[in-house]
Amino acid sequence: MWECTECGTENDLDPDAEEAQILDCLECGAEFEIVALDPLELTLLFEAPDEVVHSLEGDDEAVDDDDDDDREPWVG
Ligand SMILES: [Zn+2]
Repeated sequence: MWECTECGTENDLDPDAEEAQILDCLECGAEFEIVALDPLELTLLFEAPDEVVHSLEGDDEAVDDDDDDDREPWVG
């Protein structure tokens, strides 16, 4: 059993775990490397990607209504 330092979830430790093995938290996805087994010591490799569910292009919501110049006219 090892506890994720990122989210506090207790994950099962592989009984065959060895030093330098990579563990990842089932709850938040953070990755840890086993530094030592007795006592168990982990080092954080990758933080959990929280709040990356937004748009890919950033949070620019500056939509200006004044920019009507390039609006194509309706052709009937
Ligand atoms: Zn976690």
